[in-house]
Amino acid sequence: MRSYFHSENHLMSQEMNQFKTFGLHEPILRAVRAEGYETPTPIQLQAIPEVMQGRDLIGCAQTGTGKTAAFALPTLHRMTLAAASGGAGPRAAGRVIRTLILSPTRELAAQIGESFATYGKFTGLRHAVVYGGVSQVPQVRALRAGVDTLIATPGRLIDLMGQRCVQLSHVEILILDEADRMLDMGFIDPLRRIVAQVPSQRQTLMFSATMPPEIRRLAAEWLRDPARIEVAPTAATADLVQQSVFHVEPKQKPLLLVDYLQNTPSSRTLVFSRTKHGADKIVRHLMRQGIEAAAIHGNKSQNNRQRVLKQFKSNSPPVLVATDVASRGLDIDEISHVINYDLPLDPETYVHRIGRTGRAGATGEAISFCGRDERGLLNSIERLLRRSIRVAQPRAEVRQALASAGQASKQSGAKPNQGSGQANRPKPAASTQASSNTAEQSRRKFWRSKRKKRANGSTAPFASPAGQGKRPGKPGKHRRRFSQARA
Ligand code: AMP
Repeated sequence: MRSYFHSENHLMSQEMNQFKTFGLHEPILRAVRAEGYETPTPIQLQAIPEVMQGRDLIGCAQTGTGKTAAFALPTLHRMTLAAASGGAGPRAAGRVIRTLILSPTRELAAQIGESFATYGKFTGLRHAVVYGGVSQVPQVRALRAGVDTLIATPGRLIDLMGQRCVQLSHVEILILDEADRMLDMGFIDPLRRIVAQVPSQRQTLMFSATMPPEIRRLAAEWLRDPARIEVAPTAATADLVQQSVFHVEPKQKPLLLVDYLQNTPSSRTLVFSRTKHGADKIVRHLMRQGIEAAAIHGNKSQNNRQRVLKQFKSNSPPVLVATDVASRGLDIDEISHVINYDLPLDPETYVHRIGRTGRAGATGEAISFCGRDERGLLNSIERLLRRSIRVAQPRAEVRQALASAGQASKQSGAKPNQGSGQANRPKPAASTQASSNTAEQSRRKFWRSKRKKRANGSTAPFASPAGQGKRPGKPGKHRRRFSQARA
């Protein structure tokens, strides 16, 4: 009869075997074990065997599904296989690039590079990452020293190819990651030029979060009889995340954000702003209220972005405010909360955003602030998700502060009820702004009492969302409901 421990060990080794059964080389399995991965994710289950066999593959999957390991593990396996069987002829004559991975953003490229470092650490294979916005000198040095895998953004790769610093004629595996985003970013010409330099006898893998016709056309052109896999269609991924929405006046968002952050136990929070300027403004506001935060967006230098990302990963600051482009593909574990300070203009971006939390099976929480002018956006998101998002209410204390701030701006003649058509209207001149002083005063009063309470350690947890399951109606209906509530 088996002892309890025996059967437990047996179970554990069976779990380990889930990666073992793929037949990956031992140095790669060792790295997987060191990472603590026990069970392959659905995309890994489907992709790893196909890629190991040398098949082309088209995968509809987004970041957060374990996609990087799904292509990195079998790619490393194939490269070590060639080396072990003496098939790596070029190795004798110095390393050559045998795998080329293209990524739309620098951050994603850097993260893929980290994954190759992690999964390939016992293989002896080398990789380099090249992207724009930083000096090319260390990148060229790395390339000259010889690498087996090159991870690149298309623009910098084209530059380096033009300077004859890169030789792609030995590439055996070509991987296009986030292909849809590369097209969105206007990389189609660089992509064509790069693919033309890669031998046509190769294995090609293409990953894309969405499959618009252009992607299908490129796949038909560049891939041969590919295996097709689709995991967690975007809307389904969102099911892992607890979602709720606050209906607020746009002007009330800063107050609500601070209150939420101060009263919600969280590890790391990612706040999304629609604009770079908005992201900076949110950070300034949070810092003023004593909440450590940093912004990450396209106006920041690459070095700054890397530094901020590193700091955020080690929880200092615990709040990162990002725009969509900067956040795309960010691989940060343990983001407990995603806050949509502004709703995104397209619903798929919402799913990408909230996918930053709830990664690889973990649950996360996503909350959204929906201004009156954003009701239409919320409706499209709910249509995509095929369900309504729970409506949450601010805590009573905050509701009061919001109400008095709203009342004050009403008295001051501001027109908070204007819809999206007014979104671009110029800000009131300084003199008119002065008239909303009462609102400002009540906000200040609120913060003062908050700070005092915090000092006394008496802040209550954030109120549990009310009005659950309530589906916001059409914009017109809402406007009515809102104005009634305000009357
Ligand atoms: P990706 O979709 O490649 O960005 O991966 C998302 C996250 O899942 C990364 O932080 C990986 O380290 C993690 N991950 C990937 N595969 C597994 C696995 N089989 N088990 C647990 N975590 C994983």
